[in-house]
Amino acid sequence: MKAGVLALQGDVEEHIQAFKKAAQELGISIEVIQVKKPQDLREIATLAIPGGESTTIGALAKRTGLLDVLRDAIKEGLPTLGTCAGAIFLAKEVRDSVVGETKQPILGLMDIAVIRNAFGRQRESFEVDLQVGELGTVRAVFIRAPAFIKAWGDARLAASLKHPELGQIYAAAFQGHMVATAFHPELSTTVVHKYMLNLAKK
Ligand code: GLN
Repeated sequence: MKAGVLALQGDVEEHIQAFKKAAQELGISIEVIQVKKPQDLREIATLAIPGGESTTIGALAKRTGLLDVLRDAIKEGLPTLGTCAGAIFLAKEVRDSVVGETKQPILGLMDIAVIRNAFGRQRESFEVDLQVGELGTVRAVFIRAPAFIKAWGDARLAASLKHPELGQIYAAAFQGHMVATAFHPELSTTVVHKYMLNLAKK
């Protein structure tokens, strides 16, 4: 099986390693490729969109001609994981905690509303154990993370936590073959990547 990591900006290498480790634990052999051009999407059975800076990832996706083909491939069923900036990129509704409306290019595929940079300066990065739905308890690393505040349609939210101002927020969302996490599973666990490989096998 081939897995892909969108390699425009962000922690690409960490996702490559997480996919490799996850495959090893599942006893399946995979090749992980960096997705940089539209044709790279053809062979892969699952895709991870890394954390980084969602505005940069969006701008580069537009410039490289990937934005529309990527959206089509995911719409057609490519199992896709978006972490942090990648989750923002997948969401339909994006607001920034400081500037509000953003005009950044997004895929706009998951029925979730997210707030970028939802954790203020003191909590720019932190770690916490979270119950992530059926995936169980996960050590979650947050780095200038978004908060998921709403889901509709087929999307469901998981991994709830209390935010000092926003109240109850969520750090994971599932919608069929799409998964979004506000945290960085690639830094601390293989459970989310194993979930993606299992989706890809179906
Ligand atoms: N704050 C970044 C953004 O809005 C996301 C941070 C991350 O991916 N670690 O895109």
